[in-house]
Amino acid sequence: KAKEKGRGKREFFKGEMNAFTLERLKLEGYLRKAIQKGELQPYFQPQLCMKTERITGFEALLRWNHPELGLVSPMQFVPLAEEIGLIDDIGRFVLFESCKQLRHWHDEGAHHLSISVNVSGRQFQRLSFVYEVKEALQASGIPAECLHLELTESTMIHNVQYSISIMQELRELGVKLSIDDFGTGYSSLSYLKDFPVDSLKIDQSFIRHLSDDFFNTSDAAIIKAIIMMCEGLSLTTVAEGVETYEQMKLLREYGCHTAQGYIISKPMPANEAQLFLDEFYTIKNSTS
Ligand code: C2E
Ligand code: MG
Ligand code: MG
Ligand code: MG
Repeated sequence: KAKEKGRGKREFFKGEMNAFTLERLKLEGYLRKAIQKGELQPYFQPQLCMKTERITGFEALLRWNHPELGLVSPMQFVPLAEEIGLIDDIGRFVLFESCKQLRHWHDEGAHHLSISVNVSGRQFQRLSFVYEVKEALQASGIPAECLHLELTESTMIHNVQYSISIMQELRELGVKLSIDDFGTGYSSLSYLKDFPVDSLKIDQSFIRHLSDDFFNTSDAAIIKAIIMMCEGLSLTTVAEGVETYEQMKLLREYGCHTAQGYIISKPMPANEAQLFLDEFYTIKNSTS
């Protein structure tokens, strides 16, 4: 009898699949409540102009801090949010919060700062997306050109003609567009001339191994080629994941416009980002 019961149980749980489903259901339930509970918060990572050595703006990177699970990575919960239809609320939340934060920095006197917001595929494909962007600009009162939206190649090529028309509408608002993680997606160069974008973010996988090392010249070659191509297309280049001074030096030599990465700062909560700005300019002014 005990044997039969045991077998039945094993039948019911059928390997790890059900345990996985259970975990996932729990995660889903938690995520559904995360916004109301204030567990979601954008962090901000500074972007540095290579020429002027000034902070030009921040990228908003979402964080989920759950009391039981701890800090959950956006790489985990963003795809889940897309799947269960929560990305609409979450995307809207990040967009509005980020614009509001930028307005605060502008009010403090840092009028030149921009804010970059990541847009997921589902969020971008929604009919109300342009309207939402317009609303976020109106609610915060920031100039449209200070809002940069980051799109990935897979988002844009999902439905090319539709994507181009939405991108044109966004640019008519004055918003800037950039291609995130460039080089990791489909990277069809022919699309680059059709998509109305302003800047391109070189994926960190190319930056990671960039060094003066004679034996690793391929990443350098790719980075240089991307920067040269962008020059011809009048696109601004942003290097993501810059971790060393050597990488910084090389990127500057290659003519990359903007750097973002741990060498400058990790993403941080709004109040820390504010302190970072204050300190950054205090140090800079006392040394220059
Ligand atoms: P991403 O937009 O390409 O963001 C860059 C990622 O690289 C961030 O990871 C950032 O923390 C990390 N990073 C920055 N500098 C360095 C560095 O020097 N070294 C290394 N190793 N990593 C660095 P994070 O914050 O975990 O975000 C991961 C991805 O999740 C983002 O990639 C983006 O695709 C997505 N994501 C984040 N926030 C949002 C959001 O609000 N909405 C949407 N739709 N996606 C988001
Ligand atoms: Mg990004
Ligand atoms: Mg990226
Ligand atoms: Mg990335």
